[in-house]
Amino acid sequence: MTQLRRLVFWSVTVLFPLPLVIVYWVLAREPEQLKFFVTLGLVAYAWWLLSVLLSVRPVWLERVVGLPVIYGLHGMLGVLAIVLAFVHRDNSYSGEQLAVLLGDWGFYAALAVLCYSVFFLSGWLVDRVRLLHTVKRWLEKVFRHQVSVWVHRLNLVIIAMIWLHAHLLVRVNQYFWFMMLFDLYTLAVLATYAWKKWVAPDGYATGAVTANTPLGESSRRISIRLDQPENRLRPGDFFFLRFEGSPAIGREWHPFSVTDANQETVTFTIRQHGNYTRRLAGVPVGTRARLEGPFGRFESTVQRHDADAPLVLLGMGAGIAPLLSLAAAHHTTRPLRVLWAVRETDHAYYRDLLEQYRSASDGKTHVTIQVGRFRREHLTGLLTPETIAKGAFFIVGPNPAVLATQSLLRHLGVSQRRIHQERLTM
Ligand SMILES: Cc1cc2nc3c(=O)[nH]c(=O)nc-3n(C[C@H](O)[C@H](O)[C@H](O)COP(=O)(O)OP(=O)(O)OC[C@H]3O[C@@H](n4cnc5c(N)ncnc54)[C@H](O)[C@@H]3O)c2cc1C
Repeated sequence: MTQLRRLVFWSVTVLFPLPLVIVYWVLAREPEQLKFFVTLGLVAYAWWLLSVLLSVRPVWLERVVGLPVIYGLHGMLGVLAIVLAFVHRDNSYSGEQLAVLLGDWGFYAALAVLCYSVFFLSGWLVDRVRLLHTVKRWLEKVFRHQVSVWVHRLNLVIIAMIWLHAHLLVRVNQYFWFMMLFDLYTLAVLATYAWKKWVAPDGYATGAVTANTPLGESSRRISIRLDQPENRLRPGDFFFLRFEGSPAIGREWHPFSVTDANQETVTFTIRQHGNYTRRLAGVPVGTRARLEGPFGRFESTVQRHDADAPLVLLGMGAGIAPLLSLAAAHHTTRPLRVLWAVRETDHAYYRDLLEQYRSASDGKTHVTIQVGRFRREHLTGLLTPETIAKGAFFIVGPNPAVLATQSLLRHLGVSQRRIHQERLTM
């Protein structure tokens, strides 16, 4: 079912440019070969627009396919569009100098922004090559995440350049109905993007900070009482959170998972390791907050597995946050094994809470907390053959650690469709 949903979702890649392509082919009188190369340019443009559309991350769509799939398609469209734009550029010709210039600049700028974004915003390279990960962390002292977001937004300028490029080309601008559709696509996408940035936040959930307490030296627990209970909230969900009216904190949106499934007061467990999270100690009680979401598919995934299949919740550091809310919801009803890897003994700030879940579970819940990552020998000792054969595994933590644990579980014999994960960077 999940695969089917993904397939339907990916099919928008073909469906989205189709009306533009059909109208162009019906109207255009150019030689077929030239029409083909113009079509490649058109599809590339439509994919850039679709990519912008996906970046608004609609909550309803996220609930169906999940944010990683949405961002995965967003990134793939960027790459595929560059490939098509390259072939289009290499095989098309035109007498309109300004149009050619805009097309060329647009292409090179898109290529540069793509390379930058693959390195700084996607985990495609940095999550797999340790050296690149270290280089990225070092470069992020200057190219902070928010700087990268702004560089990424240059894609909107590139879209404007390509839009003008098309309008200057007699080869396409002579077809009135085609140009109407072309402009309609552009306008609809840019209007949706502008609505998401400036209008939609007014409708998001709001609340006030009721507690902001340290958990050891490097983490905090922040609770926010919502103005209206959020009845869509489910265990394992996360929000994009922004604090308001506090110049020291700024108005950036950051994703954090809820630590329990309380629909009136949401609580976040936040590891303070970067520019933004380190400033969170300065958020006083009473500060207003705005929350986009809730997002997440962990609870619906739990429900998809057999009721007697053991749940294995494997958290690394602050990755315990969404798993804790799953444990709160399921510790008395399902066989549950919580595995929590922490850096140091005193980072296990939820030891007592997990112990409460264990003792209330009538033997259903087992908890293991250890310093350092779970290696093969630990997991083979902790997981029964039945758990490996039937269990549903949920892994949350930093990207490289999640990937390594996923591959470890695969080697132990856990099938890919029973491994679900959330990575703490995007
Ligand atoms: C779905 C999801 C749930 C998460 N849940 C938790 C949680 O419960 N507790 C917790 O401690 N952390 C959680 N994180 C991670 C948390 O969002 C980042 O650690 C935090 O935003 C980093 O901010 P920083 O400026 O302090 O760190 P930096 O050192 O500046 O950034 C570290 C990395 O975090 C990522 N990042 C930075 N800013 C953003 C942003 N605005 N949006 C998205 N990614 C960003 C970038 O990949 C960057 O490389 C979650 C992340 C995701 C994707």
